[in-house]
Amino acid sequence: MKIVVCIKQVPDTAEVKLDPKTNTLIRDGVPSIINPDDKAGIEVALRLKEQVGGTVTLVCMGPPQADVALREALAMGCDDAVLISGREFGGSDTLATSTIIAAGIKTLDYDVIITGRQAIDGDTAQVGPQIAEHLGIPQVSYAEELTADGDSLIVKRQFEDRYQKIRVKTPCLITALSEIAEPRYMTVGGTIDAYAKEIKVLGFEELKDKLNPEHIGLKGSPTNVVKSFTKQAKGAGEVLKDASADDAVKAIIAKMEEKHII
Ligand SMILES: Cc1cc2nc3c(=O)[nH]c(=O)nc-3n(C[C@H](O)[C@H](O)[C@H](O)COP(=O)(O)OP(=O)(O)OC[C@H]3O[C@@H](n4cnc5c(N)ncnc54)[C@H](O)[C@@H]3O)c2cc1C
Repeated sequence: MKIVVCIKQVPDTAEVKLDPKTNTLIRDGVPSIINPDDKAGIEVALRLKEQVGGTVTLVCMGPPQADVALREALAMGCDDAVLISGREFGGSDTLATSTIIAAGIKTLDYDVIITGRQAIDGDTAQVGPQIAEHLGIPQVSYAEELTADGDSLIVKRQFEDRYQKIRVKTPCLITALSEIAEPRYMTVGGTIDAYAKEIKVLGFEELKDKLNPEHIGLKGSPTNVVKSFTKQAKGAGEVLKDASADDAVKAIIAKMEEKHII
């Protein structure tokens, strides 16, 4: 089974700060990690490979520094890696990003594509489903379990109050929740091998016959960010310690009326 896993390098969000003047992310000096859902996606891909054989190929769109994320995933046991990188791709929103990633994946052989459900910096959960649409293949999102069964996958799909078990034929795309598998550690041998491997870089030149320049980068992005800001810390609030339930309800309603919430 040929498995492609899309991984995004994201800032470790606990430490992300916004520049108060430009309202953009301060990336300098902020550590980067593999997006957590994607790391779980790598693990489940490696388990699928162990179950039925095959290869695991990583795809990441990002700046040259994203090489580090790909090497980390190679050290976990993935076979090869593709970095999609180019100035023409800068400023892409989710639609342009998925267009570019889908173009990159078209250069590969695949039975299954695994993406994370959601990236912790963008948080839209749009890129995986959009890639499936661009490629015209079925998709199952919110996967919490994944097993291979012949030319199909059996996916347990999470809902708030229940789950669905879905059989989907390959080729298909799965978006993985971080619960799907606990990622393994890199091995020492794996780390040495990872740095001996060559990462294939695909830029605009390599993908231009699959891309319309009007659909990529900032000008190909229909999303407009009007404003971004850091949430201000709230006051401590008021604690109604010894109030009865009825008094607490009355006090909360009075406060909401005072603030014109109700
Ligand atoms: C107008 C606009 C301009 C932007 N400009 C920039 C910019 O200049 N530079 C910049 O870094 N970001 C930029 N962004 C953010 C960027 O578009 C998103 O981070 C990106 O499209 C992914 O969306 P997301 O983080 O919501 O991913 P989600 O949809 O939440 O991610 C779901 C899954 O898709 C896969 N995935 C997502 N992104 C990638 C990737 N890059 N490579 C491989 N797999 C991936 C992963 O498996 C991930 O778990 C911009 C966004 C907007 C709206």
